[in-house]
Amino acid sequence: MYFFSYCFFMIMCTFCGVSATGIASLNQSLVSKKINTDVAVEKKFGGKAEEYAAKGHYYIRVLVEEHPQKATVDFELSAPGGFVLESPAHSRITALFNVTKACIQVKDGVLHLVCQDGNVRKIKHNDIEICAPGKTIELNGFSYQGSVRIVQDVVSKKLCVINTLDIEDYLYSVLRYESIPYWPLEAHKVQAVTSRTYAAYHMRQARTQKNPLPYDIKNTTKHQVYNGVHSSEHLRQAVEQTKGMVLTYRGAIALTMFDICCGGIVPGLLKSCDLTKPYLCRKTACTYCKGSPHYAWKESLSADEMLTLLKKHEVCNKLLGRFGDVLLDMTVISKDRAGIAYRVKCVGRRRSVLLPASSVKAALGKRLKSFAFSIKKEGKAFVIQGRGNSHFKGLCQLGAKKMVDQGKSFKEVLRFYFPGTTLCRLR
Ligand SMILES: [Zn+2]
Repeated sequence: MYFFSYCFFMIMCTFCGVSATGIASLNQSLVSKKINTDVAVEKKFGGKAEEYAAKGHYYIRVLVEEHPQKATVDFELSAPGGFVLESPAHSRITALFNVTKACIQVKDGVLHLVCQDGNVRKIKHNDIEICAPGKTIELNGFSYQGSVRIVQDVVSKKLCVINTLDIEDYLYSVLRYESIPYWPLEAHKVQAVTSRTYAAYHMRQARTQKNPLPYDIKNTTKHQVYNGVHSSEHLRQAVEQTKGMVLTYRGAIALTMFDICCGGIVPGLLKSCDLTKPYLCRKTACTYCKGSPHYAWKESLSADEMLTLLKKHEVCNKLLGRFGDVLLDMTVISKDRAGIAYRVKCVGRRRSVLLPASSVKAALGKRLKSFAFSIKKEGKAFVIQGRGNSHFKGLCQLGAKKMVDQGKSFKEVLRFYFPGTTLCRLR
């Protein structure tokens, strides 16, 4: 029975072009080779798009869940087409499954496979990869293409759940959350190239560092939000029409940062501007996001409200010390040329205190949308005026949408937000 199932899966796998044996290790060598050598093989992307069409697949490893090392967790997995469970270390530790449900149990840091007959089998090396060739795997309400790996990682000392899939499928999922589904196709194409490049940059970083992590990118707002398969099929078009396209700078994959609205802040004037990445130091202001509510914003807090919030924050509270209960004045006293606040002065009855703007921002939470702000006392209230909702570097998504509305192509938009980069294809 097992033999029959095994053959069935191998045929399915071959047919679907997905290897069910050690998919992660196979893909890892494939990608690291490609990403590392793309410097040598990449060519300028001009009018002959087909000539440079992507010839292979790139697989990305996305951290979809992270748990403490000693966590007790049950991972209930299901796949309509059945699974193959394999050890990425190639020591065959598991049964081949021809069933639609599986449970990986983690107890005291040790992984176990709970079989359908109720038997529990220890998983060697605390590392298991689950593939559903040609189908999706369901886990905790999300549906994943490719494979799901559950591993106790020695580097991060965390229990990691990693989804490995084709980068183009990954992008299709990312667009659902990092772009606005009802935006025009050209705007999705801008985001597709930006997100693909961002992902490729992290793939290379992750695989070339001294103690490599078992994943390339996290599913967070800090990296890119990814929640598996979704139903907004029209986003595929943007991925397909930009297949394999990435931005490079001097032959290396660029770090294509992006955020919702830059507020017209010129990144080239930022004190934090990294001159080794001049494409993130644009000297021309984006005015395209001007009409958006994020472009310029205003918040008003009473003196009591402000002081209470500051005192609730550990760093601010420590620096305020015996400040007293009255906040007489509060102003930004140090800014860079771009308008980013660095130091804030608080004046009380007994003393004046300087606070780092980063701590003030953390203390005020969502009331402060960015670091480009100033504070003014108006009557009994403190009025904060600010610009943008962003780190100000790279692509301004609302600005890009406006450029597309004005008839600009995705290439023109990318050229504006990432000056000096070249559009290439991964090969
Ligand atoms: Zn903008």
